[in-house]
Amino acid sequence: MELACLDLEGVLIPEIWIAFAEETGIEELKATTRDIPDYDVLMKQRLRILDEHGLTLPQIQDTISRLSPLEGALDFVNWLRERFQVVILSDTFYEFAQPLMRQLGFPTLLCHKLEVDEAGRITDYTLRQRDPKRQSVRALQLLNYRVIATGDSYNDTTMLTQAEAGILFHAPENVIREFPQFPAVHTYEDLKKEFIAASLRDLSL
Ligand SMILES: [Mg+2]
Repeated sequence: MELACLDLEGVLIPEIWIAFAEETGIEELKATTRDIPDYDVLMKQRLRILDEHGLTLPQIQDTISRLSPLEGALDFVNWLRERFQVVILSDTFYEFAQPLMRQLGFPTLLCHKLEVDEAGRITDYTLRQRDPKRQSVRALQLLNYRVIATGDSYNDTTMLTQAEAGILFHAPENVIREFPQFPAVHTYEDLKKEFIAASLRDLSL
């Protein structure tokens, strides 16, 4: 049995924090896991910046409500779901992802959770576990699934390593250079070809 694990931001949807940084004009909020590999350091920085500017969850959700999946993402997800069970493994938060997941037809999503006070201020966050993407792949492998995974950034590389096959998609040059063991593609058509190549089944139908 084979299962597909996909990163969300940068693979199927735009980077939420970058979209919010652009709307608010706060340059510092543009940092992502591509720039700061330690997610706790990155999230603490983001929450500090939000506090400094008095920004709340409803304001971020307002930005998110105007975002759409990347062009071709829905078709790709539909193609993949006809051939694999698909699980999205993301370092985003359920409070952010909902409107975009609706547009993708609500595939299964494992991610994190925010702590928010009555005023809408994000006070903290709960990461589901340490190294969650890799641990999720491990758990699925314990259920006897062979996992093919794809992601675009540093926070995906342990997942790609743990999976039986890992594919970089839309990754920046520095990630591609540091992880030459993974094939790196930039279009959904090429990503489909990599899934076909990585599968033990004949998917060329
Ligand atoms: Mg990503």
